[in-house]
Amino acid sequence: MSLTNKILLGMVLGVIVGVVFNLIMGVDQAHQTAASPLGQWLQVFVINGLFDTIGQIFVASLKLLVVPLVFVSLVCGAASLGGHNRMGALATKTLVLYLVTTAMAIALAMGVAVFIQPGAGVDMALSSTYSAPPAPSIKETFLDIFPSNPVQAMAEGNMLQVIVFSILFGIAISRTGGEIALNMRNFFEHLNEVVLKMMMLLMQLAPYGVFCLLVKLFASIGFGAILDLAKYFFTVLFVLLLHAFGVYGTLLKLLSGLSPVIFFKKMWKVAVFAFSTSSSNATLPVNLRTCEHDLGVDNKVCSFSIPLGATINMDGTAIMQGVATVFIAQAYNIDIGIAGYLMVILTATLASIGTAGVPSVGLVTLAMVLQSVNLPVEGIALIIGVDRFLDMVRTAVNVTGDAVVSVIVAKSENMLDKTRYENMQLNAEVDPV
Ligand code: ASP
Repeated sequence: MSLTNKILLGMVLGVIVGVVFNLIMGVDQAHQTAASPLGQWLQVFVINGLFDTIGQIFVASLKLLVVPLVFVSLVCGAASLGGHNRMGALATKTLVLYLVTTAMAIALAMGVAVFIQPGAGVDMALSSTYSAPPAPSIKETFLDIFPSNPVQAMAEGNMLQVIVFSILFGIAISRTGGEIALNMRNFFEHLNEVVLKMMMLLMQLAPYGVFCLLVKLFASIGFGAILDLAKYFFTVLFVLLLHAFGVYGTLLKLLSGLSPVIFFKKMWKVAVFAFSTSSSNATLPVNLRTCEHDLGVDNKVCSFSIPLGATINMDGTAIMQGVATVFIAQAYNIDIGIAGYLMVILTATLASIGTAGVPSVGLVTLAMVLQSVNLPVEGIALIIGVDRFLDMVRTAVNVTGDAVVSVIVAKSENMLDKTRYENMQLNAEVDPV
């Protein structure tokens, strides 16, 4: 069986086994504790002990790759592009597309939510107290881009700063020129091979890691929460799918003329990783590899756009925030008006930039969006119960959005290998990553 199929199997079995454990343990939704002594034993030793430990090791092994992979791959890209006058155009196109797709996502989300009215008639008694951790301000978000210490940026996994440093380093290599530049480029290209090999080794853990993460999640939460908030849940889900298949598919076809069907088939594996880890950052190595190897995007484009996208481009998160804002406004019976909606488009686009690619952060930055239109931040408590499930799907949309932009930009700059894009054999079967 190919690795991708094993991962898929791990995902399906993980959900089933998790739900079975949830039923056996009889987890109390409010307190997240099991009812019987046997249930408590299972919860402590099997779920939080065994499954959680293996799941965490898997996530750690993915995160381990992020900084070395981004640094090495981006230095390679920038070093070979440094002398190239397309660097500015490439970066501008990528940024503009990231912002435009996010704004489209949130507008679509609010449009659908206003139409479906998920918050009408919501029982406010559902609400418990929720105190939001402080969301970063716009100034902080902006200042955070500029590194003062590259080692600290890497140690803290601050991706925007690592990106800035790596690009500067790569450009400096190419500007140095001569034998030094040649040797340095060779060195980084070899290092890139080694990091990729390491990734292939760690990827063998993926089916088991995915299985354990999903067992732990579904055993702890169960499906009960979804029923209580069905209208909100399915509205977000619907918009996420509409955006992923409808908007991305159309953009891909219109702007690059490439087949969306091939794109989605090849991205399936990346989406599964995003779904089971709920983290754009942890999915970054797989996404980078898929874009370059399966979709034929030139390393110079994807080494820049994918890490950047994992950090600032969160269309799925923006969709959740759009629907959540409308939902909370309806639940509290507050009309935010047209100006309010425009404000939400603006702040949610910025919030998406400030949202880190790790689980549940979208909920924290939602506080910033709610505050911008004077909605009660405690409203977050209304939706928190289902957020963990939605986080999985929206992370899959977040990473798909990064890849779509990468492919479109690469095609427009003549930096996409179309034969590779169209070759279905090139998937995991040939090169087992
Ligand atoms: N989990 C999301 C991501 O990593 C961020 C979020 O919306 O919470 O992309």
